[in-house]
Amino acid sequence: MNDFHFGARVLCPTCKTRVFIQDAPWKRLCVTCYLAQKGKTAPTPTAPAVMPIESGMLRRLIQLCHPDRHGNSAAANIATRYLLELKGAQHG
Ligand SMILES: [Zn+2]
Repeated sequence: MNDFHFGARVLCPTCKTRVFIQDAPWKRLCVTCYLAQKGKTAPTPTAPAVMPIESGMLRRLIQLCHPDRHGNSAAANIATRYLLELKGAQHG
């Protein structure tokens, strides 16, 4: 490969749809095509495992940042609304 330019954005010649950044002369395909060539597939991203906030703790947090305790501040309203949405999402 004599036309290698470090960091060049290159259109993958196999799928002709994905553009990849060529940071080494031997990288000639996008990652998906490279893995397919080797009989592998790219790992599908999964959502990170998140521990739900325990309902008693969530209730306590809502009490602690309730706008009534913070002079009806915008921050308290935003935080409380967020926690209430979280509570609704977690506990229906
Ligand atoms: Zn490709």
